[in-house]
Amino acid sequence: MTTESVASSQSTIVSSDAGSQPLLIENLTKCFAQGDKRVLALNGVSAEVNQSEFVAIMGASGSGKSTLLNLIAGITQPDQGRVLIDGTEITSLRDPALTRFRRRKIGLVFQSFNLIPTLTARDNILLPVLAGGEQGPLSVNELLERIGLQDRATHRPDALSGGEQQRIAIARALISDPALLLADEPTGSLDSVTSQTICRLMKELRDDLGRTVIVVTHEPDVAMWADRVIVLRDGQKLTEFETKQFPDAQALAAFYQETVLSSGSGAEIL
Ligand code: ADP
Ligand code: MG
Repeated sequence: MTTESVASSQSTIVSSDAGSQPLLIENLTKCFAQGDKRVLALNGVSAEVNQSEFVAIMGASGSGKSTLLNLIAGITQPDQGRVLIDGTEITSLRDPALTRFRRRKIGLVFQSFNLIPTLTARDNILLPVLAGGEQGPLSVNELLERIGLQDRATHRPDALSGGEQQRIAIARALISDPALLLADEPTGSLDSVTSQTICRLMKELRDDLGRTVIVVTHEPDVAMWADRVIVLRDGQKLTEFETKQFPDAQALAAFYQETVLSSGSGAEIL
């Protein structure tokens, strides 16, 4: 499977009105207990993400990226602040409404693909539906075509490469037609060529299906695919910038090194 064949696997499906309003992140604060200490993982982060925007969240290890993504996804509750998705304050929802909302509105992708080893690629994609979620307008076959893996439908994960497994995980995240695709270091365990294929796929989902995509990464090569980069440092939003000002990933990397990594040393211990 080449990047070209992924790029050319076009589909005529038009997305629903998913993501018709921006994602709003207001003043998010989250502390974690670590032994007898408390770590301020996020300290008053606010941001706005527009419909069909592709945003990368960058920052050093421990800067709060995963915490922010988990708060947006409603996996973790904030100590302060709120998150609004399509006008709904996800941070005020509790189960079962929270689970229902999450299943419908949010597709999650992680570094470790988290596929079920005994299920075929097709059934792994269908898993959210088999678990009681609703299926969106995209059929499994359409999703398999979209990710360029029609011929792998009956393969089990151990017969698929890392890049193919991650494409299946992305298709699984899209089966219920979520407004938001949230990915936490999705290319972290892939080689650089495969990583670019995954980035191209996420960009196509934005371009062709109007998805809003938020990807956590510390790789400038990945961030370069986004429209905008939000940079976290020590649990705070340090800066944000548009990627189009950079001619290539090297230029983005140089800027990132200079501005971001010049100071700061981890989350605040209270
Ligand atoms: P990143 O994804 O940028 O590497 P994280 O959001 O995972 O950073 O973590 C930010 C800070 O919060 C780190 O100091 C981390 O150790 C701490 N942290 C994150 N999750 C937990 C948790 N569940 N329990 C305790 N500390 C946590
Ligand atoms: Mg992380």
